[in-house]
Formats: sequence, structure tokens, C-alpha cells
Amino acid sequence: MTDNRTVNKSRVALVACADYDQRRVYRAMSRGLELVGGISSFVQPGEKILIKPNVLFGVSPDRCVCTHPEVFRAAGRLLAGAGASLTCGDSPGFGGCRANMALGGLKKVADELGIPLADFARGRAVTHPGALLTRRFVIANGVLAADGLVSLPKLKTHGLTRFTGAVKNQFGCVPGLMKGPQHARLPDPFKFATMLVDLNTLLRPRLYIMDAVMAMEGNGPRNGSPRKLGVLLLSADPIALDAVACKIIDLDPAFVPTSAPGEKAGLGTYHFENIEMVGDAIEDFICPDFNVVRKPPLPASGGRMAAFIKNRTSARPVINADRCTRCGACVRHCPVTPRAVDWRGEDKRRPPSHDYNLCIRCFCCQEVCPEAAISVKETLLGKIIFR
Ligand code: SF4
Ligand code: SF4
Repeated sequence: MTDNRTVNKSRVALVACADYDQRRVYRAMSRGLELVGGISSFVQPGEKILIKPNVLFGVSPDRCVCTHPEVFRAAGRLLAGAGASLTCGDSPGFGGCRANMALGGLKKVADELGIPLADFARGRAVTHPGALLTRRFVIANGVLAADGLVSLPKLKTHGLTRFTGAVKNQFGCVPGLMKGPQHARLPDPFKFATMLVDLNTLLRPRLYIMDAVMAMEGNGPRNGSPRKLGVLLLSADPIALDAVACKIIDLDPAFVPTSAPGEKAGLGTYHFENIEMVGDAIEDFICPDFNVVRKPPLPASGGRMAAFIKNRTSARPVINADRCTRCGACVRHCPVTPRAVDWRGEDKRRPPSHDYNLCIRCFCCQEVCPEAAISVKETLLGKIIFR
């Protein structure tokens, strides 16, 4: 349990922030930090702190794929003001950290603030004896070199975990090429989520500051639509922070597969009776028509019959042939062998196709498609059974 938890409750600060005006974001974040105990509760002078934004792809901040540069700037200024020695970085699923940060406006801010990029290209193995499921991770050198981590997630939808927020953001601490095998090793969404929880209990970020000023709805986490929520969320408890974010987008936090293992692991709580919300009223931000899947993912385990039923009822990635440029990114990033999306000897002038019997529904293909040609579609049977 962290310092800023009151006796039995996790504190989550909600601070209104209408847009990304530099001074407005700074003021909102300063206020949020005071509400969760002050910056000195998280950082001491002279400590090496790594700032971990979401740098999934290299695109303009207007697309809402990455943490906004002004959120990054405010965090950098406040942490530097507390005497921390800062580095930053992420291991994106597609492209390199430096290039993605440059395209997303983050590199310019890092240069202005004198925050060097940490080494996220290489890492080393670390054991986690207290893990629920995954006792060995390869962690980026830049993360291991820091005394502490401050996580800056972006609120977005996600095919596998329903939404991506505080807990999921730490997946970028695993160097790039090593993330795909984690999907293949853990095809069950609940086991995958437990691995994410283990990663968080290993790394224990000091503080999470979620950029929900402009969120992403629909076909996230890369190709969705921007949606204004106008709020920054701050907490030392990532499970509680994600639960509050879920409440804002009218998603039951129990449907997010990291919630239950997160509570079991002692990482935090998603039960609102154990969460203290401070700052602005949550009612000011609730968005009931936010476009997100409001159903839990289906488990992968349970034998042949369960796999047969799951294959016919669970949502699946579908290619829009009109948008597909046949670039092959989906094929290259499919983590299963044989690949579940491929040309299979077919004419490469046509889009690749999915074999849903092989597909583990990790949605990496949907995530990496640069043309937004892949979306997550429910099956007719799934709609009938799970409506
Ligand atoms: S990544 Fe998208 S555009 Fe590229 S081949 Fe796959 S579906 Fe087509
Ligand atoms: S086809 Fe897509 S969703 Fe299915 S296993 Fe491959 S990358 Fe994952």
C-alpha cells in the first residue's frame, strides 16, 4: 500500500482540464498532485526518475494515440522542480521510441526540458518471486537504471483489455520484440491481464497520471476517434485509477481483466467503497455514450468444446479490403505460429486473410494496422448470446 492511501481507501484525484493549453495543464497537474499528497510524497531530491508516457505510434498529438506532449511537459517540470533527475522512454509496439516521440511532439518537449531518452531497446531478465503468474520478465535497461517510475497513461479503448490505462501502460517497459511472445504464451485475456498486474507489482510505479483530456474511443488503441473528457486523473493506485476512468466512460471495471488480479495481488482496488475520489466531481466528466465494448472478454481455456464455442462467439479482427494497402504489418506482428493472419500462398495483391481457428484474439494486428483497415467485430452468435 502506498503513502497516499488513507486508512482503507485508495485516493484518486480528478482535475478538470479543458484542453492542452500549456499553463492550464500545468496548473491542473499541480493541483492534482496536491490532492494526492504533494510531489514530495513520490519523489525525493536527487532521485533518478523515469517518465513513462504512452508512445504507441508516431503520429500527431491530435490523433490521441500517445500521451499529449503538454501532459509530459507538465510532469517533467513538476518532477524536475522536486529535484528529480529525469529520463524518459517507452518501448512502442510499432516503430522506434525516438521516432515516435519526435512525430508525437514528445521529443521536442524532452529536448526543451533536457530530459534524455533512456535505453528501451535492450533489457535484461528480472525475476519476480511474488508474482501471481509470471515470475520472469525482460525489462528495458532504462527502467532498471531508474530509482522510480512515473507512468503517464492515455485513456483509450483496447480490443483485448477493453480499455488501456494505468496498468497496461507498463507493458512498454518490456523491450519491443519481446512483447509479441507474451501474447502467444498467454492467449487467455485473463492470464495476459494477470501478467500485466505482475509487471506492475514488479515495477511499482510511484505515481500514475492519466491523460484523459482527450481520450480515444472506438477502434483503439491506435485507430480510434478522439473524444473529449476534459480531465486528468492522478493516483498511486493503478487499479483504482483505472476503475475511476472506467466509471467516466461508463464501463464496469469488473469487465476489465486487470481489475480482479490487481486487487488479488494487492496492487489496488476497483471497488468504489474502497476508493476516495478527490478534486472535481466525477459527474462533471461522465460520458455515457463513450464508444467502448461493455462486455467482459471470453476466457481462452476450457478444452476443445470451449475453444470451438469461443471461436464462434468472441469478437474477431476483420479486414476492410477497401482500406488495406497490403503492407503486411499485421502478418509480421501476428505472434502465433502458424500465423493466424497471412496470405497463405494466396495472391499478395489481395489483402491477407484471418484463420480464426488459429487466432488467439490478441488484436495485435488491429493495433498495428497503419491504415485502420482492421476493426474488432462481434459475431452474430456472440451478439445473440452475450447481448
Ligand atoms: S496491416 Fe492493415 S493495411 Fe497492412 S496488410 Fe494488414 S490489414 Fe492491410
Ligand atoms: S490474427 Fe490478429 S488477433 Fe489473431 S492472433 Fe494474429 S495478431 Fe492476434
